[in-house]
Amino acid sequence: MAETTTAAEAIGERREPDKSAQASEGAKAEADAGGAPKPGQRAEVSNLDIVKHYFEAACDRLELPEDVRVVFWTPYREVTVQIPVRLSDGRVHVYAGYRIQHNGARGPYKGGIRFHPEVDIDEVRALASLMTWKTAIAGVPYGGAKGGVNCPAGDLEASEVQKITRSFMDKIEKVLGPTRDIPAPDVNTNAQVMAWMMDEYGKLHGHTPAVVTGKPISLEGSFGREAATGRGCVYMFREAAPNLGLSPADTTFVVQGYGNVGSWAARIMQQLGSTMVAVSDSSGAIRKDDGIDANALYDHVAAGGVLTEFEGVEVIGADDLVAVPCDVFIPAALGGMIHEGNADRMECRVIVEGANSPTTPAADRILRDKDIYIIPDVMANAGGVVVSYFEWVQNLQHFRWDEREVNDKLGTIMRRAYREVSGRAREEGIDLREAAYVVGIERVVEAARTRGYI
Ligand code: NAD
Repeated sequence: MAETTTAAEAIGERREPDKSAQASEGAKAEADAGGAPKPGQRAEVSNLDIVKHYFEAACDRLELPEDVRVVFWTPYREVTVQIPVRLSDGRVHVYAGYRIQHNGARGPYKGGIRFHPEVDIDEVRALASLMTWKTAIAGVPYGGAKGGVNCPAGDLEASEVQKITRSFMDKIEKVLGPTRDIPAPDVNTNAQVMAWMMDEYGKLHGHTPAVVTGKPISLEGSFGREAATGRGCVYMFREAAPNLGLSPADTTFVVQGYGNVGSWAARIMQQLGSTMVAVSDSSGAIRKDDGIDANALYDHVAAGGVLTEFEGVEVIGADDLVAVPCDVFIPAALGGMIHEGNADRMECRVIVEGANSPTTPAADRILRDKDIYIIPDVMANAGGVVVSYFEWVQNLQHFRWDEREVNDKLGTIMRRAYREVSGRAREEGIDLREAAYVVGIERVVEAARTRGYI
């Protein structure tokens, strides 16, 4: 159980750091001392630095004037709220909650809610901005937003998470709504958390399923939503594979982070005949060259088992995961995990970025020099928001599509996004990441101009 939060902690300083937080702090200290982070640690640069770097590079290419850039870099609205919650230890804990609406030129704001002790306003800003470009690249009619609470959700009881969720919703409901801003799940939040959010919003506004997406099937969620981000990553890989001389049936892959995105990507890759040779989560990393059964591992973890205690595998250092030879590496944990200190150890052909901002700019350069093909987060992990869009459309119509229809429509959108971005990359002789940002920013700027916003 967590200890009482101080005010300083509540406004963004870390409390009860988990492994990744310690790694991050260690990396920061290392960076402050002038060195690169050690392998396996998170990078010294923040998610905001990472997104800003890629944003500026694309703006340079688009020759966007400085005054216009400011409009598209800074968020439209930032809400910070205090969330005091009495937990089962009998004490009041105060968490900080954020909802940041980055840009709404193309439609209502859309973006996930993250519960993690490392959440702070800059991280939420970075993730909100990524959503703006992601929805534009996928061509779904949304703006970009993100939310978060700096609570140690992984260590809390379900009843405590429910209290935090309801209290957070009570404080941000005024800026939400099906035509204003529609949250969804992200790290440490899931369909259950979305159900509580919908229920709390409904107490004030009447039953409004379209106010959040990623809900359970029993509460007007969409078939296919839970798997959508992982499935979208696999669709992107399949689109890229022929040009890289890869066939999914002969492909080996490694997954970093075995939560929603990682475990679904792994299970769907396995359905195509690919072999998972190593995988990690916050408990550590495991390896087996002739294959780890993605379904059995999912069942093991879902039943409360520890990933590193899965039978018949070799436990390896978390730092060594990146160095396991494979065709496809799928980061699906937190940001900044592929950095200057470990990028040169990577032994893969392709990286499909399931996580947001997993690769720092310095690592990106190293990987390009190693000729590793990167399908970047802003396009690779758009599957979640695409099926969230389908869920919202179904909710607004009070109508339900079957799973096949959802998956087919998702495939169409993901393939189109891949072709549009890779076509632009070829035309301009740039990599996919830069091309994706160029396409996304261009569409948002055009929408803002057409509205007369700038
Ligand atoms: P999740 O909470 O379901 O899973 C996160 C996983 O990462 C867990 O298995 C956790 O143990 C693992 N992890 C945490 N720290 C780690 C570390 N230091 N090393 C290795 N593993 C670690 O979260 P999720 O929804 O799967 O999100 C994962 C990533 O995908 C995030 O970056 C998120 O922003 C991004 N994303 C999620 C969605 C979505 O629909 N859920 C959509 C787009 C992007």
